[in-house]
Amino acid sequence: MSERTQPVTAGGFEGCAEPADAFSVVANETRLTILMALWRAEEVLSFTDLHRAVGLRDSAQFNYHLQKLTDVFVCQREGGYELRYAGEKVVRAVLSGSFVETPTVGPFALDASCVACGDDLRARYADERFSIDCAGCETRFGRYPFPPGGFTDRSDDEVMEAFNQRVRHLHCLAADGVCHECNGRMRTRFVRDDERFAAGVSVVHRCEQCRHRLHSPIGLTLLDHSGVVAFHRDHGIDLCRVPYWRLEWCVGDDALTVLSEDPWEVRIDVELGGETLSVRIDEALSVIATERTGD
Ligand SMILES: [Zn+2]
Ligand SMILES: [Zn+2]
Repeated sequence: MSERTQPVTAGGFEGCAEPADAFSVVANETRLTILMALWRAEEVLSFTDLHRAVGLRDSAQFNYHLQKLTDVFVCQREGGYELRYAGEKVVRAVLSGSFVETPTVGPFALDASCVACGDDLRARYADERFSIDCAGCETRFGRYPFPPGGFTDRSDDEVMEAFNQRVRHLHCLAADGVCHECNGRMRTRFVRDDERFAAGVSVVHRCEQCRHRLHSPIGLTLLDHSGVVAFHRDHGIDLCRVPYWRLEWCVGDDALTVLSEDPWEVRIDVELGGETLSVRIDEALSVIATERTGD
């Protein structure tokens, strides 16, 4: 690891607020109320308007808390105050529900069957993550973060639709080497014979900076690939609308062929209506060739 890519430590970056100081600044109800008021306003608020929106009677107290937030979370500009990006992040963390809500969602059946044994698939939610697995053979089809804010105003079907979209995007970023949690560098390695997965080879994406980790079937990285999307479109399927756990080539073992282990190279054969799209993928999860055969 080069010097430039040393992980951010509790010391933070030079010239920035120490993380512990920054967190202690927002650990206060009035200050969170100020951030929420600026977020709701969606525009620069004058001192008077912001004071009114927050509703704290004592002006000196209000000013004291506002000054504490200014620079890191709030910026002062002509005409008043507005949120900085760090302030928006705090508000989004509150809205995502991670700190205040712990939804209880019992396991529920999905309208899909396991590609390994044909039994019903189910979704389970715990520790702010959804896992999809088979009730019969216990094969797992991924376990990924889903902040509780995702349940707001959504039915079970809509929640699973949102989860499916989220998983596609998480893997698109991870395959490009970017961590969705912290923007750090993600490294990918291939893993042989993890019994939790249907496919004999899976991949682990791990962030070098924050250690965020995704363990996944290889096929997930193809959900955004233009050739794979076009192949489905030619067969009347809008790939981005199909839950990934229904796609046998994506999560199963039959479509996967290991061509080499050092360096890793695999082929995934997507079959639709008598046609096959063969996609060769290298160790960096880049598609190095595609071939379409059949009718
Ligand atoms: Zn099964
Ligand atoms: Zn990260």
